[in-house]
Amino acid sequence: MADQDFPQGNLMAGKRGLIMGVANKNSIAWAIARQLAAQGAELAFTYQGDALLRRVKPLAESVGSDILCECDVTNDDTMDATFATLKEKWGKIDFLVHAIAFAGKDQLAGSFIDNTTREGFKSALDISAYSFVDAGRRASEIMNDGGAMVTLTYLGSERVIPNYNVMGVAKAALEASTRYMAADLGPRQIRVNAISAGPIKTLAAAGIGSGRHMFRFNKAASAMQDNTDPMGVAGAALYLLSDLGLSCTGETHHVDGGFHAIGMPQEGPLRESMPD
Ligand code: NAD
Repeated sequence: MADQDFPQGNLMAGKRGLIMGVANKNSIAWAIARQLAAQGAELAFTYQGDALLRRVKPLAESVGSDILCECDVTNDDTMDATFATLKEKWGKIDFLVHAIAFAGKDQLAGSFIDNTTREGFKSALDISAYSFVDAGRRASEIMNDGGAMVTLTYLGSERVIPNYNVMGVAKAALEASTRYMAADLGPRQIRVNAISAGPIKTLAAAGIGSGRHMFRFNKAASAMQDNTDPMGVAGAALYLLSDLGLSCTGETHHVDGGFHAIGMPQEGPLRESMPD
């Protein structure tokens, strides 16, 4: 996907915000960052540890960003430092993108009831759901009224998806948190929404057991009979983070080729693969 594929414009002109969750060029947060930059946003990035800095730095530089903060969401010191840096450099921000999730590989395969440990549950919920509450509170303290926040979720919160397991529980908590945060910040006209993206090939997706089957099944069973394009997710983020999204808050917006809407797929590739 070339940069010029992202619609250019000035929907985000004069707006500044933090992107949390770029690991490499395939990250959903990176597609969102490019779309926001193409519409005139000024961006700051977090990265999780030195190993990722060498990937994230050139990406950030390519969209004119020189604010890069090391941040592990389980470490309060790095969270404090990140938001202190934003306050010092910019004073105020207008938006937050949260695209962070983690569960141990042993938690993302096989039986949910048998394989979910107390530690695995706590860490998945902490990193994948509480981190949005925490980052959202910190961001709100320096956010202009009328700002916006977006997080990334997945259908495994609403329905059982094989191997997604404890991450589905974490995403359900994340979506509920989105609604509570929307209520708290609504009086300041700060909007909080979630995008429920269909499967996209990223580092995080590679950690989920039977990933290849997931992509094939989504393609066959979605309304559009195709996989999810990160550009569509980036476009939804642009809508939700810009003034186009006025009055929309507390929402979980699906960008998954209509997969979530289907109860039983039409006659098509999936039907043909089943004997009568
Ligand atoms: P990714 O691997 O590119 O991004 C995940 C990010 O989470 C990485 O940047 C990683 O550094 C960060 N992270 C994990 N633990 C962290 C911690 N303790 N502190 C700070 N950062 C941490 O993968 P992605 O698919 O772009 O994931 C972004 C978001 O999108 C996640 O919330 C994911 O669940 C969600 N999502 C992904 C898909 C998909 O199919 N890829 C679908 C729906 C939703």
